[in-house]
Amino acid sequence: MSESRAHTVVLAGHLLDGTGAPPQPDVALRIAGERIECCGPVAELGSTRGIDVIDLRGLWVLPGLIDSHIHFWGLSPGEVTPADFQSRLETARQQARNLLHAGFTTVRDLGSPIAPCLRDANATGALETPRILAAQVGLTGARGPWLIPQPTWWEARVLRGVASAREEVQRLHDEGVDVVKIGASTGPRAEGFGDIPTLTVDEIRAVCDAAHGLGLPVAAHAIGSEAVRRCVIGGVDTIEHGYRLSDEVCELVAASDAWIVPTLRTRAARPTPEAQATSREQMDTLRRGAAAGIRYAAGTDSVGDEHTLHGSGNAVEIELMSRVLSPSNALAAGTWDAVRMLGPDSELGTLEAGKFADLIGVRGDPRRDLSVLQRVEFVMRSGRLVRHDAGAGDR
Ligand SMILES: [Zn+2]
Repeated sequence: MSESRAHTVVLAGHLLDGTGAPPQPDVALRIAGERIECCGPVAELGSTRGIDVIDLRGLWVLPGLIDSHIHFWGLSPGEVTPADFQSRLETARQQARNLLHAGFTTVRDLGSPIAPCLRDANATGALETPRILAAQVGLTGARGPWLIPQPTWWEARVLRGVASAREEVQRLHDEGVDVVKIGASTGPRAEGFGDIPTLTVDEIRAVCDAAHGLGLPVAAHAIGSEAVRRCVIGGVDTIEHGYRLSDEVCELVAASDAWIVPTLRTRAARPTPEAQATSREQMDTLRRGAAAGIRYAAGTDSVGDEHTLHGSGNAVEIELMSRVLSPSNALAAGTWDAVRMLGPDSELGTLEAGKFADLIGVRGDPRRDLSVLQRVEFVMRSGRLVRHDAGAGDR
């Protein structure tokens, strides 16, 4: 144990540690630097002389929230004409801060030229943002989802055939992405025909083999049975959106290693009849997929526009998922299961000795009322205090 690092003790009224253990009352977490050193009953804590003690005995403490599918596009609500890159970066920086203060300690950005800038500035400790995993740009087929005239906040690269797939993955790796994003079906921009496959199984397999060989996971935008079937056979790690699936394809996904990130918020939040119809289709597939045993992680597909502002509203996804999954499973999808989806051997997602001290405090058992996740009162990321509302420790 290094005595030179700053020590903090967090006193939790209840601790949900993310390991599957039942919640423990009155737990002390001892934090050294950016990691958890140990945790145990408050009664066994011993002397705290010279140590910062944060009293959260009025709160439930659990691992930080994870949004597995967002886009930092730096849009201002209601924006029609995209601003210049620097203004968008400033907006995205504020949005990232909002997410962190809302309890999101890790987010995965599946397509934005801004996200790598935020991530890299964050790595130097200069910014107050969640941990960011960035895909930067997506790869798609010749009639891919992102090739219709695009706003300048999004770009895609076209791959044509297996050799091109390998080259594009290598290029993304060299540019420093954390995850490779592919567009394997059209839509959902055109709600009615979102499920036309745009990549062959061979192309998807080439992307996955190349990415996995370089230590990168593959996230696939895929809607409709045929596109999702190709993605599963090709070996993708996560299927984004993943609705309009036959029972047969649900079984195929369930039997594979792939996870689905159903992105419910982005449709549920939009009032148009098309979006609401899609929302119902998403719920229907989620119901049948959960029955088949598919594994899910929570991701909102929020872009920061007026319907999907980045912040406390991203936690709505977990509540939406709980309309089908049990509250415990929905909570897991936005915390510890999301970490399992992000990769093995993670140093996140559970509150145990040696893990990063990414934790939040909420008032009440989130498994009884998931809406408390939209009113987070305490946030710590990598052992650094981000938010501690007045009175959070009151019993
Ligand atoms: Zn997206």
